[in-house]
Amino acid sequence: MTTINSTPGAAWSAAAPAETGERPWCHRCGTDDFLIFEEYVPPRLPSGGGAILPASAGYSCSECGGFAAHTVPADWSPPHWFWYS
Ligand SMILES: [Zn+2]
Repeated sequence: MTTINSTPGAAWSAAAPAETGERPWCHRCGTDDFLIFEEYVPPRLPSGGGAILPASAGYSCSECGGFAAHTVPADWSPPHWFWYS
């Protein structure tokens, strides 16, 4: 039995992001009330093409002084965030 199986050239992977990320949270204080966001990078396409890069954020906690930076969910953005024009 012969199977003719043409391989597709460039396979689009499903639109699911590689990493879903985690919402910013201070685990030491158990709240996000004291977080100060220092950096936020929205989800973006790499200039060379390829899979979309997940959003990431860097923040510190004004209560305990902790700092964290990691990928965040695509539907999350810092409170009162605005786009630079
Ligand atoms: Zn804290």
